[in-house]
Amino acid sequence: MLLDGKKVSLEILDDVKERVSKMNVTPHLAVILVGDNPASEIYVRNKKLAAEKVGIMSSIIKLDANIKEEELLHKIKELNNNPNITGILVQLPLPGHIDKNKVITTISPKKDVDGFTPENVGKLSIGIEPYFYPATPQGIIMLLKKYNIKIEGADVVVIGRSTIVGKPMAQMFINNNATVTLCHSYTKDLEDKIKTADIVVSAVGKKIVRCKMVKKNSVIIDVGIFRDSNGKLTGDVDFDLVEPTVKYISPVPGGVGPMTIASLMYNASKVY
Ligand code: NAP
Repeated sequence: MLLDGKKVSLEILDDVKERVSKMNVTPHLAVILVGDNPASEIYVRNKKLAAEKVGIMSSIIKLDANIKEEELLHKIKELNNNPNITGILVQLPLPGHIDKNKVITTISPKKDVDGFTPENVGKLSIGIEPYFYPATPQGIIMLLKKYNIKIEGADVVVIGRSTIVGKPMAQMFINNNATVTLCHSYTKDLEDKIKTADIVVSAVGKKIVRCKMVKKNSVIIDVGIFRDSNGKLTGDVDFDLVEPTVKYISPVPGGVGPMTIASLMYNASKVY
């Protein structure tokens, strides 16, 4: 069965829209874009469009690629102190001369809609409700819950250990009482590990999950998104071969991608 991220994301966006329409304060998301990376410009534009659709105000703050680190930090502090701004997102990647970690740690945890600040990551790690969960893993948990897929007690394999997907994903599964194996490029016998999993989340960016690796009736979540040698958008999972064996599978595109946007809008609608 297909895990239809597109359909579920529209339901979540409808809920967010309704909630926003009833709020006393209109949420206002500030998106900082440094430089002119074309992919980042598209991501930022899509976030603005999604915000508009659910009634969240948004402002794109475009800064020169050569901006000094202190100037960027100053801008973030200004937004932290601006009571009209309820969410702040700094589009990554940043130019090489800027320390990403300094930028992230400057954002107020109560406006950190990406859930990347140490306070939010730390809360997730010790099992206290953070102000915000990172959008992609939160979107995946939302998708699993919409399809009533049992997480508690499940054996889960997460492939990829990035701070934006793999690590918070593993932590969220642990907090939902799953047993988690977190794999990466140094993992031995990846295939054996995947074979034991009730739920597999692959966040690598390469074709890595093939048919003979997966357990019958398992659940496969494909986070990866990249272009194959023919320029076609594809994911980490060999969809056509894996699909007949498993119980649920998320497609690319139309799976985790739209869930990430919906999850981000859910975050952007929260006001502290
Ligand atoms: P990343 O930071 O590049 O991390 C990739 C991870 O994959 C690393 O932990 C790496 O291990 C691991 N890896 C690489 N080769 C491997 C192998 N052969 N076996 C096992 N693990 C391997 O990537 P990311 O930012 O998490 O993104 C991953 C993919 O998801 C990308 O395609 C990205 O475009 C996509 N993505 C999609 C969404 C969405 O909304 N749909 C959101 C975020 C990301 P090491 O740590 O050992 O290097």
